[in-house]
Amino acid sequence: MAMRYCSRCVMPDTKPGLVIDHEGICSACRSVEKKHLIDWEGRAARLKALCDQVRGSNGNGYECVVPVSGGKDSVYQAYMMSRVYKLKTLGIVLVPHLQTREGVLNLNAMVSNLGIDLLKVSVRPSTLQKIRRIAFLEIGNPGYGDHRVVFAGVARAALFYGAPLVVWGEDIAVEFGGNTAKSAEDEGSAEDLISNDLFRESSFDDLLKGRVDENELFFYVNPEKEEFQRRRIKSIYLGYYHWWDGYKHLGVAREFGFQPRQKGPLSGNVLDYDNIDEKLCEIHIWFKFLKFGFWRPTDQCCYHIWNGRMTREQAVELVREKQYEFPHEYLNEFLEYHQLTGAEFRACEERWRNHDIWHKVNGQWRLKNEVC
Ligand SMILES: [Zn+2]
Repeated sequence: MAMRYCSRCVMPDTKPGLVIDHEGICSACRSVEKKHLIDWEGRAARLKALCDQVRGSNGNGYECVVPVSGGKDSVYQAYMMSRVYKLKTLGIVLVPHLQTREGVLNLNAMVSNLGIDLLKVSVRPSTLQKIRRIAFLEIGNPGYGDHRVVFAGVARAALFYGAPLVVWGEDIAVEFGGNTAKSAEDEGSAEDLISNDLFRESSFDDLLKGRVDENELFFYVNPEKEEFQRRRIKSIYLGYYHWWDGYKHLGVAREFGFQPRQKGPLSGNVLDYDNIDEKLCEIHIWFKFLKFGFWRPTDQCCYHIWNGRMTREQAVELVREKQYEFPHEYLNEFLEYHQLTGAEFRACEERWRNHDIWHKVNGQWRLKNEVC
């Protein structure tokens, strides 16, 4: 199987859910074309109407719940809902177990400068460590449990506080061309979030059966969907109503004290402001490179291309320059957190390396088809 690349951006067809059509253009680039035809003012008016409807509907309680990390996109989300749409907004963060200095400062700056309340969900380390280790060794996806906590934690908080609106960021499938739920395409509903691409790899229950006590999993398990319907809680994607662009969000976030990574971009990265709040994610994304042949530099360059800030030629050059840089910065902490030896880690890397797309050149692993 040869990797094929989109002729407009640099995304390969190994990305789950992405297809390249007969003109050589990928589904993410086609999504961008469609975004230009959207009546964004009309959509913003629909969101305004929705907010007008829920404002004041929960007494003194929160009207809106927003998952936040302190990253640029989440500052933008919290800003839009609290300042622009003027809803009583509760931010919810899954506290990372290994936060960066920037992560702590940015989250604190957001809360104090934007003036919102923040609920911190800090799951017990022993359980998350165990789940991450199992997910890393068995499905090559150490962040699986964390994602579950973000979704379930936010859903549980919305139910607990009776907040009528849950506002997520972008619909990954719409933004990047994946399997889109019909409801998300038609009305920006995020109710099918859990069936997203992120979760297709393995069933959480099967993975943990008999190995983790069910009583430790409250924050990993979604409440019933029917409960949401009964309480009339709506989940939406903000990216459906406003053009989603991380670079634009950076501008907003900076106004509220957001600072990029002090030492510049991490290895393999083009940007110094993307995913800088914690230390365990980079290696998770590195495994995407082993499995699918692309990771941070491709994602970040494509984003710039889609938003008209980079040419394909520049992207090709950057991806080729950056993509083999291993994210070594936090490797030791990653190994320690998951109680892995270096040898176990390397063995796991090789287990997940997709030999259809990788081969050795002069003793070094290289993609068989480089972007060009
Ligand atoms: Zn493309």
